[in-house]
Amino acid sequence: MNKAVFIDRDGTINVEKEYLYQIADFEFISGVPEAIKMLNEAGFLVIVVSNQSGIARGYYTEDDVENLHRHINRMLNNSGANVDAWLYCPHHPSGRGSYSLPCDCRKPSPGMLKEAALRYSIDLTSSIMIGDKKVDIDAGLSAGCFSILVRTGYGAEEEHLLTTKVPVFDDLHAAIKSLL
Ligand SMILES: [Mg+2]
Ligand SMILES: [Zn+2]
Repeated sequence: MNKAVFIDRDGTINVEKEYLYQIADFEFISGVPEAIKMLNEAGFLVIVVSNQSGIARGYYTEDDVENLHRHINRMLNNSGANVDAWLYCPHHPSGRGSYSLPCDCRKPSPGMLKEAALRYSIDLTSSIMIGDKKVDIDAGLSAGCFSILVRTGYGAEEEHLLTTKVPVFDDLHAAIKSLL
């Protein structure tokens, strides 16, 4: 069985910019490529799990999201780091057409983590979820993962909303450094 670190995207990997989809607007939070490289070297699968309701809302398409993810991974590769898989939920309850279906992948549901666990033979109980929102923590805990909040993105605002006590770090790099 593999162990994974599941990482939220917006506000955890990149600077939060509200419905980001354009490559020109993408900006790493400081220390993120180094942190992901440390996870690669420690033998964790690194899996991004991201709510992308902007697709359901018609702000951008799945192709836009996948293009951006290819771009981010190229930049990571240039730093010797790699994300093993990119999962996203394109749905929203008030979204358009087929994207409005009730789904079990939109965080705080643990659907993306469970899907990844099946696909990549991951032991969720020895895996970790890291994100900047309470929904990330709740998804991680529901999946049975050790969960960590970061104060980047919405994290500083959401810290007091947590109903379960979890570790909180200033950013992804600080979280990974303490973990390894
Ligand atoms: Mg986020
Ligand atoms: Zn979904």
